[in-house]
Amino acid sequence: MPEKSLSRLLAAPSVWQAEWQCKTVHSTQLPFESDVVVIGAGLGGLSAALHALNYGCSVTVLEAQQIGAGASGRNSGFVVPIPSRQTPNSLSKYLGDGTGHFTRALQHACGDLLSCSIAMPNQSGWMQPYANHCEQKMLAVANGWRNLGITVEVADCERMQNDLGTLHYRGGLCFPEGGVINPFALVQAMANQVTSRGGVIVEGCPVLQVNPYATYVGIFTPLGELKGNRVLVAGNAYGTHASRMTRQAVSQMTLILATFAMPEDWLELGAMPFSDNRIDMWFFRKLEKSRVLTGCFATPLTQSTDQYCSLLTERLHTIYASLPLELEHIWAGRVGLTCSATPVVNCLDKRIISWSGCNGRGLALSTLMGRTLVDRLLGQDGHRLAFPSSRYRHKYDALGWLAHTLIAMDRYKQRHFASARVTRPTPPGVSR
Ligand SMILES: Cc1cc2nc3c(=O)[nH]c(=O)nc-3n(C[C@H](O)[C@H](O)[C@H](O)COP(=O)(O)OP(=O)(O)OC[C@H]3O[C@@H](n4cnc5c(N)ncnc54)[C@H](O)[C@@H]3O)c2cc1C
Repeated sequence: MPEKSLSRLLAAPSVWQAEWQCKTVHSTQLPFESDVVVIGAGLGGLSAALHALNYGCSVTVLEAQQIGAGASGRNSGFVVPIPSRQTPNSLSKYLGDGTGHFTRALQHACGDLLSCSIAMPNQSGWMQPYANHCEQKMLAVANGWRNLGITVEVADCERMQNDLGTLHYRGGLCFPEGGVINPFALVQAMANQVTSRGGVIVEGCPVLQVNPYATYVGIFTPLGELKGNRVLVAGNAYGTHASRMTRQAVSQMTLILATFAMPEDWLELGAMPFSDNRIDMWFFRKLEKSRVLTGCFATPLTQSTDQYCSLLTERLHTIYASLPLELEHIWAGRVGLTCSATPVVNCLDKRIISWSGCNGRGLALSTLMGRTLVDRLLGQDGHRLAFPSSRYRHKYDALGWLAHTLIAMDRYKQRHFASARVTRPTPPGVSR
């Protein structure tokens, strides 16, 4: 059954969760009270916790499952300085005067993530190849990002071949300040920082209810009640129980990811991490010498694990024609789409704030959101990003259907025209 297959993949551990050894055990004791209570130990929740600790607050993070159980431990680890699905124009339309401030803050957040020790050595930069090459369009987008303070280079066919090892793309945008990390290792490292600085993290503790009272906010869990002064709900697309609204506020989309073993000599071609600009967000990165990670959006039309695997293999073979591949890990994760492709923020009470919407490129964005919402909760100046708070609107099902339809149409077009475009990479130094 298709659903069973997909739900198995959604429950399967990611390659990071399966292989990262340095998990730490956190408290199982619920404190009696806390200045700031964070619901959800993903990147958003943990960066909020660290930021609140900077202000000298007592902080408790409550996690329904384990640290990094949601999108933060299941993603592909691309750290990118631009929001997904946005062009400079569309972003400026939405954020107005606050756009430059936001993109600079995002670039900064990107740098922070990549400067930690879990960034992958020798894999800096992130390429966005253009599936349908149009030089004028690429130049206009590049100039737009530059005007917003983002460093971007326009890559021609030769550079694409050098950096990606394929002739499939004729051009693209290179963001030298992007890169890749092991996201689960990052989450674990952040959790350790929270506890070493006096914060409390309780795993296996789903928050069932959040009730504002006159003098405190009551947070109810199966382990008991906790009194908080300020509450950040950071469940995002994985929100359950009291955080259900963060999941319902977005349209759920599933990404399928897999790692494949491949011969080492292929990797001499030097592959920069990249995600093409197609609507299904197909992406590729090297892990170690003989392994790659790839993935793209799943649609209801794709049914079994075998079909997901052949979809990914087929895509890889369109780019790297005769590359031998052997499946190692396969798993899935949920991202949340919003109509504006930017986060939605909901202020339930001036002491309780929640947000949602990772849109597939949310590593840097989540850390930024965590920090900026703590600033709002504590009345600090901080970043003051231009995301207005509004009531969540649960009207996103149509968005999911639209996205799935566009992805299916795009895949159909790709299959149709793929045979004309299959090209074999030329090893460096060999002229064609
Ligand atoms: C498959 C996949 C690939 C991605 N690839 C990339 C990428 O390459 N680059 C990029 O920038 N972004 C990527 N993203 C997006 C990125 O992973 C997310 O934007 C980011 O991790 C979201 O972090 P978060 O803390 O907001 O949410 P999450 O990491 O989902 O954390 C939410 C946590 O809240 C907990 N929770 C929920 N409800 C409750 C409750 N009631 N009580 C207690 N705890 C609760 C959940 O268990 C979960 O651990 C990807 C996402 C997915 C799913």
